[in-house]
Amino acid sequence: MPFHIIVPVKQVPDMERVRFDVEKGRIDRSSAPGETNPFDLNAIEAAVRIKEKLGGVITAISMGPPQAELTLRDALSRGVDRAILLTDKRFAGADTLATSYAIACAIRKLGEFNLIVCGEKTVDGDTGQVGPEIAEHLNIPHVAYVSEIREVSRDKLKVISDMGDAYYLVEVKLPALITVTKDINTPRLPTLRDKLRARKAKIEVWTVDDLADIGDPDRFGYKGSPTTVHKITFPEERGRRGKIFTGEDAVEKLIESLLKEGVFKC
Ligand code: FAD
Repeated sequence: MPFHIIVPVKQVPDMERVRFDVEKGRIDRSSAPGETNPFDLNAIEAAVRIKEKLGGVITAISMGPPQAELTLRDALSRGVDRAILLTDKRFAGADTLATSYAIACAIRKLGEFNLIVCGEKTVDGDTGQVGPEIAEHLNIPHVAYVSEIREVSRDKLKVISDMGDAYYLVEVKLPALITVTKDINTPRLPTLRDKLRARKAKIEVWTVDDLADIGDPDRFGYKGSPTTVHKITFPEERGRRGKIFTGEDAVEKLIESLLKEGVFKC
């Protein structure tokens, strides 16, 4: 079987332009055009580099409204071979649990696979939960925040996981799932020819009915979502304070001030 890599990709709104519906506690996704989640471009690039080394095929899956097709075409132009769009009103209103469940069911329907590569998070929901949850639904190991792939073979991966306060060197048996950070690579730009090819490529559309033999339809969309958003609040913006210390004792005054503010302790 060719080495099969699956990349879940999400269409996100342009965060510079999007509006928040504070009343409903939601992002108003119709208020800004969509683009591929930037972290998913790193996931696609990581998958393409593995394919260049081991051969194989890459399948991208996206769950979203019909216009998420554009994100799949973007993925196809960047080296993905097959694209599946999960779209259906019955998938709508999904929290991360229902989203990851639907994607995991689609992966099960695809059959055998070796590796799943997700972005570390999205720029709109920003939870970083969907990748690890897919792994849990499929009962496979996962490594999050992968910033470097040290070794890859058909049966294992050696990666660096950047946990913020420490780097871990992790070896994981395949099949497994990884989520990747922006540091892992610089996504290459598709050529005009790639874009034209992707524009004509076939996007497979799957609905809840296509997954009914794999999963429980009551666990998709709003019905399958235990999360309730009570309120959205904006973090308070704190202005910067500037102080200039002059004179021969400027350094002493600076240290005194930093101690007083509790920036460090003696
Ligand atoms: P993260 O966990 O940060 O994403 C990590 C990675 O997972 C991504 O890089 C990507 O590789 C993969 N991934 C994430 N989402 C997808 C996807 N959809 N397809 C493929 N791969 C993916 N959102 C809506 O768009 N419409 C709604 O109606 C809606 N209703 C919601 C209702 C509730 C109560 C809640 C809590 C959320 C709702 N959301 C809705 C938001 C939705 O749950 C999240 O957008 C989704 O679960 C992804 O979470 P995230 O953005 O935090 O992804």
